[in-house]
Amino acid sequence: MNSDNPKKIGVIGAGIGGLSAAALLAAKGHQVTLFERNNKAGGKMQEYRADGYRFDTGPSLLTMPEVLRSLFRQCGKNLDDYIDLTEPDPLCRYIYPDQTIFDNFQSKKKTLTELGKISPEDRVAYTEFLDYSKSLYDKTSDAFLFNPLYNLSDLREVNFLDLAKIDAHTTVSKKIDSWFQSDYLKQFFKRFTTYNGSSPYQAPATLNVIPHVEISKGGYYIMGGLYRLADCLLELNRGLGVSIRFRSHIDKIVVKKHRATGVINKSGTFTKFDIIVSNSDATETITKLLGEDYLPASRIRRQKRIEPSCSGFVILAGTNRKWELLKHHNIFFSSDYKMEFHQIFRDKTLPDDPTIYIANTSFSDTKDAPDNGSNLFILVNAPYLSDHQNWDTLSEKYPAVIIKKLENSGLDNLADSIVVQKTITPVEFLEKFRSNKGSIYGTSSNTRLSAFLRPRNKLREVDGIYLTGGSTHPGGGIPLVVLSAMHVVELINRFEM
Ligand SMILES: Cc1cc2nc3c(=O)[nH]c(=O)nc-3n(C[C@H](O)[C@H](O)[C@H](O)COP(=O)(O)OP(=O)(O)OC[C@H]3O[C@@H](n4cnc5c(N)ncnc54)[C@H](O)[C@@H]3O)c2cc1C
Repeated sequence: MNSDNPKKIGVIGAGIGGLSAAALLAAKGHQVTLFERNNKAGGKMQEYRADGYRFDTGPSLLTMPEVLRSLFRQCGKNLDDYIDLTEPDPLCRYIYPDQTIFDNFQSKKKTLTELGKISPEDRVAYTEFLDYSKSLYDKTSDAFLFNPLYNLSDLREVNFLDLAKIDAHTTVSKKIDSWFQSDYLKQFFKRFTTYNGSSPYQAPATLNVIPHVEISKGGYYIMGGLYRLADCLLELNRGLGVSIRFRSHIDKIVVKKHRATGVINKSGTFTKFDIIVSNSDATETITKLLGEDYLPASRIRRQKRIEPSCSGFVILAGTNRKWELLKHHNIFFSSDYKMEFHQIFRDKTLPDDPTIYIANTSFSDTKDAPDNGSNLFILVNAPYLSDHQNWDTLSEKYPAVIIKKLENSGLDNLADSIVVQKTITPVEFLEKFRSNKGSIYGTSSNTRLSAFLRPRNKLREVDGIYLTGGSTHPGGGIPLVVLSAMHVVELINRFEM
């Protein structure tokens, strides 16, 4: 497995992309140093503990675990020796504004019975839609996910006849509206676009691939919390000999004669490398770590024009009671879904009536909260940062809007039961992790061409710089970010070996 041409590689950022790339490169025999500005690994995957409560503060759902299995296998290890995966059942509980409840189970038979209660007219359409979603996956995954799509040789792998049939000319919402009669199912299927931080009213219908990924391929939880994954990746890196430097902010990538030669940290120290892998947000890498010193102004302007994904407004609420109503994953839908996305993406304000996601991991893992308590991770889709918001005021006032809505939707006396509370706003995602405008999934897919506008995993303008993470190809979310790291390794093999 070892490279006969080992390189000295600097990786900037210990998010999931940086940790994955560093481990894969070290497993190939390269000498890898990983720089992280914070004192913990994981990037947006973090956890918070207080008074016997444990919360994941980033991802709460893992899809496509086969990608992680492949990562560990390529590093000579077995994922199952590190983490214990479980599939919460139901996959998710949906609560509509009229208090109708729909449980989406792991078993399709059980889900169809459930659908018989809320929208019997759409039971056949449900099955047919999942078949359609699978067909989108079959047509797009090799072309868009498992392929670095960097140059012409990659395009040879793409079946263009299939690409003509991936519904990029219409939106997620229009396709779903034409498919189902029931408003319940329309809202249910539109929600999956938010896994990519985009609006179902703008994103191409190709994103209807996501229901197949969660519902048919499975939605997983890691016992002990999703943060276990960041811990395990760190352990994997240490075992492979990666040198890890926490509290080490990289200020600049140094370039000589169009080739990266090393990095300069906050204290001004230069470290020489043959290759740099940046897991910092692509916009941060291009506009700040490189900037106009090394890139044309037009390239920087083009990067700044890429629309980030939405952000998130989070409340961590440790309560002294449980609710029958709550399962592991729960969604409380808004009454006007279109208005909600208009407010987030067009007006760039927090929605007046938000859809609220609650991860209640103590449902599956009693260790996450004291006896009879619940650890509620409450997430609302929020606009990325702009002049339209004042987060000091919003972080004071908005929790009451969310909690009131939850109380009115069946979580009676929620406010009085909270004994631990912490709020996270988009400002924190920017300030802590340098996420572009506080986005949580990298770039949005709100246009037909966004998949092609995302920066590739090798910078074209300067040699020796590779990009991994949610803001790069193929996109945000844990499995895609790990795939971006695999593409980095493939492109390093192609261009540097
Ligand atoms: C609230 C929330 C919920 C989410 N839910 C899910 C979910 O359920 N399922 C899912 O799959 N995904 C989910 N995601 C998305 C997922 O967390 C991200 O796609 C993924 O973790 C991003 O990884 P990344 O490699 O892009 O790095 P990031 O997490 O962005 O990490 C980048 C790292 O680089 C460091 N860094 C940046 N600049 C520098 C510098 N100059 N010098 C040194 N270090 C630097 C940062 O500190 C950070 O540690 C969620 C995200 C959030 C925030």
